Amino acid sequence: MGTLIRVRRGHYVTTNADPAQRAAVAIGGRLACASAASTYGLWSEMHAGLHVAVPPSASRLQMDVVDHIAVPSSAFRFGADAFGDVRIHWQGNLAPSECWRVSLADCLRGVVRCSPAESAIATLDTAIGLRLVDPAMIGRMFAAEPTRSRLIASRAFPGSESGVESLARQRLQRRGLVVRQQVAVRGVGRVDMLVDDRVFVEIDGFEFHSSQHHFARDRRRDAAFVLGGYRRLRFTAVDVLRDWALVEQTIIDVLRHT
Ligand SMILES: [Zn+2]
Repeated sequence: MGTLIRVRRGHYVTTNADPAQRAAVAIGGRLACASAASTYGLWSEMHAGLHVAVPPSASRLQMDVVDHIAVPSSAFRFGADAFGDVRIHWQGNLAPSECWRVSLADCLRGVVRCSPAESAIATLDTAIGLRLVDPAMIGRMFAAEPTRSRLIASRAFPGSESGVESLARQRLQRRGLVVRQQVAVRGVGRVDMLVDDRVFVEIDGFEFHSSQHHFARDRRRDAAFVLGGYRRLRFTAVDVLRDWALVEQTIIDVLRHT
């Protein structure tokens, strides 16, 4: 449960509420954009800071309270210092939602308006992957948005099980490569990506599968790839995020020799 504390007049949260939620309410708004995206389980841009939607009618921003809320850096992915960068979105036409975060549709529209295109598409792709939306729903959500937003939204695509997979898909496609995702391979199962119909690419997530079961399954998959005569490359999410040039060059070199 946790103790109830007042973060601003008329607004109470429990002490075990997420620090970002407490900060948003204390400022006088709701978590929005990239900050809301992570609460929906979606990909959000690294070091995106704290994004808060505030109604334009708010008489005065309660920024002074921010200093008084201890926010451990662990509350934000990769230890970003949230309060080094608080972005206020003045939004008066928000759909009804929980008191601490905007609705999923407002969250997605905010991400697309506020983030670089590649990252925004990764957020949309993870929303599709979690079956929270589908491309047709996204089309409707963005029907009244500016042209840039509608163009970005139209590039969201099913098949990415993580934001990092989406980034890899987009970057390979920008190089003119054909990417198919979630390809079923006999004897192997589903594979993240097939590039140019020749090389399979898998991206291992942040979580480390150390169990004996996963270890044994990985070895069986390795054997099945070889038995099927398939080329397969494995990279980590960190490779994709920190050393993309090497990942891309490796894939291109292997394609050249296949
Ligand atoms: Zn934002």
